[in-house]
Amino acid sequence: MTNDRLVSFCITPARPEAHLFNVTCTVQEPDPAGQGLSLPAWIPGSYLIRDFARHVVRLRAGNPAGAVAVHKEDKQTWRCAPCAGPLIVSYEVYAWDLSVRAAHLDCEHGYFNGSSVFLRVHGREHLPQRVEILPPAGMHYKDWRVATTLPREDAAPYGFGRYRAADYDELIDHPVEMGRFTLLTFEAGGRPHDVAITGRHRADTARLGRDLARLCEEQIAFFGELPPMERYLFLVTAVDSGHGGLEHRSSCSLLCGRDDLPRRNRPEMSDSYRGFLALCSHEYFHLWHVKRIKPAAFIPYDLSTENYTALLWAFEGFTTYYQHLLLLRSGLIDAPAYLEMLAQLITRVWRGAGRMKQSLSDSSRDAWIKLYKPDENSANATVSYYAKGALAALALDLIIRRDSDRGCSLDDVMRALWQRHGQTGIGVAEDGVERLAEEVSGLDLGQFFQDVVHGTLDPPLAELLPQFGVGFELRPAASGADAGGQPASRSPEALVRRAVLGVRLADQDGEARLANVYDDGAAQRAGLAAGDVIVALDGLRAGRANLDALLSAYEPGETVTVHAFRRDELHVFEVSLQAPPSDTCVLRRLESADDAARRRRAAWLGA
Ligand code: ZN
Repeated sequence: MTNDRLVSFCITPARPEAHLFNVTCTVQEPDPAGQGLSLPAWIPGSYLIRDFARHVVRLRAGNPAGAVAVHKEDKQTWRCAPCAGPLIVSYEVYAWDLSVRAAHLDCEHGYFNGSSVFLRVHGREHLPQRVEILPPAGMHYKDWRVATTLPREDAAPYGFGRYRAADYDELIDHPVEMGRFTLLTFEAGGRPHDVAITGRHRADTARLGRDLARLCEEQIAFFGELPPMERYLFLVTAVDSGHGGLEHRSSCSLLCGRDDLPRRNRPEMSDSYRGFLALCSHEYFHLWHVKRIKPAAFIPYDLSTENYTALLWAFEGFTTYYQHLLLLRSGLIDAPAYLEMLAQLITRVWRGAGRMKQSLSDSSRDAWIKLYKPDENSANATVSYYAKGALAALALDLIIRRDSDRGCSLDDVMRALWQRHGQTGIGVAEDGVERLAEEVSGLDLGQFFQDVVHGTLDPPLAELLPQFGVGFELRPAASGADAGGQPASRSPEALVRRAVLGVRLADQDGEARLANVYDDGAAQRAGLAAGDVIVALDGLRAGRANLDALLSAYEPGETVTVHAFRRDELHVFEVSLQAPPSDTCVLRRLESADDAARRRRAAWLGA
């Protein structure tokens, strides 16, 4: 291709100590009316206006004749004066966001998403885009390498140099890591898969590669093929504690705690490693479901403003359901572990009264202002389309398995979505998932979708699970740390006698700071609010560590005097303690299940 038909970028981690990337963008034939340029307001997969342009520090333009005037048109758009080409725009990007969504640079490593650093050249989005990635200057950086699935032009494997993308959409869908990452490679679906781990760690990388290979093969077999790509890349950043992931067309960015990675000489499956594999499973499933099977509302993305769809429950919810189920099917976890993870998900949903106020479809549309902007009242007012969406997927799967006389399941709906929409690139209409589920199963599912997706009813799991040989039990939480999934060590009678405040404590520090005050609970009725710090119960000093123990001396209905700080003012509250709600789920395989239930369970969870 000739340079006329290209947009070229060059990105250099010019001042790692100042967290600044230098970027230049060259447009051979700029718009004669004056070239427009902008940065995205959001990144696909993370539905919040982030205004990446706020980290552009200085931007200048020039051509061979000299400087070209450029002015800011709105918060994310620049306009250059009409000029002859080539137009060269140079700018600095401040990169100090260690998340999967933006960019980060210091003397240890660099990371960026294209949406944080590459300007969209208006009218040239469809042209091939070339990027030259240069190393920082100095011997300190001589052993830095590059990990990305951007197609290489003249760069050596894992090297600095030239990369290219077919268009702007592709350019910003391959995050780039540079530094001294640990690299491991395995094969799945006949194609190489890399894992690049940044951050200090002592992980058993051989085991990680083996486990991920099994998981990826299982997912490829599920859909019948790996989408077209040369290779896949898991970009992992290990920190002290963290959890996050973002899907891309042939890679994903993951943030995890270093202890979430498998440890050497510890062959058991720890809860934290199981959680990390579930995160990998989630993002890999997105390769098909949301990166290729997409809501029609996302084709094409408009990255300058919010893009609304009511379908996130089906994209994130189904993905969350399958992230666990495919761990089970790949043999990485067993059925009891699967049921424990499922019970913890049910517990999360059942603990939020917001699920009775916000529907899944509204939660999807409102992602921009609610799910991605959680606050102290979120549990009272909203429902997660991830968590409840996964339970809707579970219920849908079980209903189809039970009622369809075609011997099918939600798996067949997923594969139909892949064939109709993923392979063709045709977007899914807002009612497309519902219609396809009915078409594939031959069932009338209208009432289910009305109740569970567009309404605020709980998925009927208490009815469905026993028909699959799985007992569904709700009990009070045994402690503030009880996430569900395990039988309580205390008797149900003892649990019901436990007095509670109706709050959730903040995770950090030793103070008993209230993160959430549940609607109509004991604390709220007494006047306590989120952010308050409880310092004493009936005159005894209270903190995060001993609050449960202090409360254990009381019975529901008794009154306790609570001293708490709101800001720096000490307040006294008389709290009439409540009985704990039965919101903690335990799922168990029923020994008493009849033959039909056993057969259904075996078909669903394996023998
Ligand atoms: Zn997701």
